[in-house]
Amino acid sequence: MNRYHQLDETARSFGCAVLQEEPMRNHTSFKIGGPADRFLEVGGSAALTGILRICREERIPFLILGKGSNLLVPDEGLRGAVLHLSGQFEELRLSPDDPEVIECGCGVSLARLCKFAQANVLSGLEFAWGIPGSAGGAAYMNAGAYGGEMKDVVQSCRHITREGRPGILQGEALAFSYRKSAYTKNGAVITGITLRLKKGLSGEIQEKMDDFMQRRKNKQPLEYPSAGSVFKRPEGYYAGGLIQQCGLKGKRIGGARVSEKHAGFIINEKDAACTDVLALIAFIQETVKRETGVSLECEVKAVDANTLQFC
Ligand SMILES: Cc1cc2nc3c(=O)[nH]c(=O)nc-3n(C[C@H](O)[C@H](O)[C@H](O)COP(=O)(O)OP(=O)(O)OC[C@H]3O[C@@H](n4cnc5c(N)ncnc54)[C@H](O)[C@@H]3O)c2cc1C
Repeated sequence: MNRYHQLDETARSFGCAVLQEEPMRNHTSFKIGGPADRFLEVGGSAALTGILRICREERIPFLILGKGSNLLVPDEGLRGAVLHLSGQFEELRLSPDDPEVIECGCGVSLARLCKFAQANVLSGLEFAWGIPGSAGGAAYMNAGAYGGEMKDVVQSCRHITREGRPGILQGEALAFSYRKSAYTKNGAVITGITLRLKKGLSGEIQEKMDDFMQRRKNKQPLEYPSAGSVFKRPEGYYAGGLIQQCGLKGKRIGGARVSEKHAGFIINEKDAACTDVLALIAFIQETVKRETGVSLECEVKAVDANTLQFC
């Protein structure tokens, strides 16, 4: 019997779509990544708990996929299961107890969430307009831009641990720091978040959103597939500035290239392989370290083909 038999049966019993050999390039903003052995569309908490149990019992590695906008998936694909959370995980509403609190499923896109906040004249989330992730991925990464970050607005996260136990973290326990949260350590699956915003003025909220979007369009190579800024901001510097200073703007390996528009971005210019991007990342890190003494740490998460952990 194949190693996925139990998983397939369980997923189908919960009504989840089960895809085999699903090309991950269809699910990443980089448009890179070979086939995942299994790609499961998980529609609710009961299904997720059941699937996590089988993954544990059958020792099947799994990856939680948000919108795939911060991931680098290997060309040989993934020997395990990708879990994409949809259905119940895409619910979005104002809290019935507090009109300044939004309850949001992890699978909701930041774009939809920002529009919802705007429509309800709630301010605080404007910074996230234009970040192409999901609410769950953004909380996991503590995504941020233009002086704001998820840390400022997330009140609590609901989760299911890898062992299948439901729970909630709030306040200090969320341990947000630069592109990190408690979840980057504990590996639990975020199923939903609550955000505390403030009543604002509709015109001002829209103006801020438009301004941030325009800045993105001016500065970022949005016409090419990418995963945004490849490196974290090193203390006291800008990664893009250091890369440019080292003469690496436009540097190409295979189909991957350092963007001419924003040196902090690597773009998939033409059918780039994951190995092209990894080689370019290593080349940039070596050059910047040699020329400036600064170590660049990856913000983009490169996934290991066999463990589905990040390398
Ligand atoms: C053009 C462009 C611009 C960008 N601009 C910004 C920016 O301004 N600021 C910024 O911070 N980022 C930016 N990013 C990067 C990216 O959008 C963010 O990191 C985003 O938060 C990732 O969310 P995602 O849903 O796509 O996560 P994914 O890429 O799918 O996953 C990222 C990580 O989160 C984990 N994850 C996802 N969902 C869950 C969940 N429900 N529970 C537990 N773990 C989960 C994944 O396992 C993985 O480890 C940009 C990317 C692009 C392509």
